[in-house]
Amino acid sequence: MPMPDSIALYIHVPFCETKCPYCDFNTYSGIDGLIPGYVAALKAELHQWGKLLARPTVTSIFFGGGTPSYLPTDDLGGLMDCVRDSFDVQPEAEITLEANPGDVTPDRLRSYLESGLNRLSIGVQSFDDELLKVLGRRHTASEAMTAYHAALEAGFSNVSIDLMYGLPYQDMGTWQATLETAVELSPPHISMYCLTLEGGTPMEQAVALGQTPEPDADLAADMYLAAQDTMREQGYRHYEISNWSKNGLESLHNLAYWRNQPYLGVGPGAHSYLPPYRFSCLKSPRRYIDLLSGPAAKRHAAVEDGDLLARIRSTPTIEAVETIDRELEMAETMMMGLRLDDGIGVTDFTQRFGKPPVDAYADTIAELESLGLLTAGVDSLRLTHRGRMLGNEVFSRFF
Ligand code: SF4
Repeated sequence: MPMPDSIALYIHVPFCETKCPYCDFNTYSGIDGLIPGYVAALKAELHQWGKLLARPTVTSIFFGGGTPSYLPTDDLGGLMDCVRDSFDVQPEAEITLEANPGDVTPDRLRSYLESGLNRLSIGVQSFDDELLKVLGRRHTASEAMTAYHAALEAGFSNVSIDLMYGLPYQDMGTWQATLETAVELSPPHISMYCLTLEGGTPMEQAVALGQTPEPDADLAADMYLAAQDTMREQGYRHYEISNWSKNGLESLHNLAYWRNQPYLGVGPGAHSYLPPYRFSCLKSPRRYIDLLSGPAAKRHAAVEDGDLLARIRSTPTIEAVETIDRELEMAETMMMGLRLDDGIGVTDFTQRFGKPPVDAYADTIAELESLGLLTAGVDSLRLTHRGRMLGNEVFSRFF
């Protein structure tokens, strides 16, 4: 298999000051002592992939977590230098950092800009202080607003905020108030996520024990509809099921995922897709550090020749590699692409798979059209408004 020419790059930061009770991401609190070793290991992994993939072009970089803004700014700057040393970063690449509102100070913002970061994603979650406490967040609504304004004043023109709905104790009134505050700020981009009670999290257990009320799924659906209305009235483009933006300010990094394009994830628990291979990194930060920059690193050096699969398999931190055959790649391309309001471009799909989607999925597309869930035009296939509400139902038909 040839090496990918260009990739989106995800860099995982598994540190948080405290662990939120609903979170099941691969993140940890109380391991700050690992940060210097972790940054050294990340640099080793970035160098390794730059060599193994013959220095591909990087179209976007996303520091996610965890709480990337929890890293010292010098470390972020050092990681950016390392990325530029190891990869061919496009001059216009979108470079995003996820930030907790409490970390967003003018000094830090200046340093982020100097390091080349050009997009900030602020984890606001809610503008209701009581709900922020339910979520175990450390910031207040007022701090979130201050952080947003500070980002603009520092010179970030591309700022996104994250909001959550479908929360315990949240009613339509508090959700509408959060929506109104959000659109008054008028950020270029807003992501909205419905809370999922992940098994084994403290919040899921509290709900199971009756200590916390179970969120109402019907109310959450109404909150989503209310969000659609509010955002439409404010002129935002609902370009993906959970994402709204002003024109031209869609998340380029996430568009690479939704278009099923190649991406490389570095850091413990990160996933990668370098067609036709999908693979993931082991989850333990300690083991990750040990294998990449500890005494064991020399014994586990990756090979720099052989085909793509041999190179992936030789990397010491990769746990699982899966080959995605053309049928599955095609189904995943449909599933991910239909999340977008642009839908599936017929020309792009045909170039990629050698046949148009209406040939590949004739019966499925006819059925979804007859149910009013999808429209198949000459240029593109898109979900209808109803299809968006029943997205999972639609996507499952392609598998
Ligand atoms: S800050 Fe984000 S990543 Fe960290 S524990 Fe909370 S939800 Fe999880």
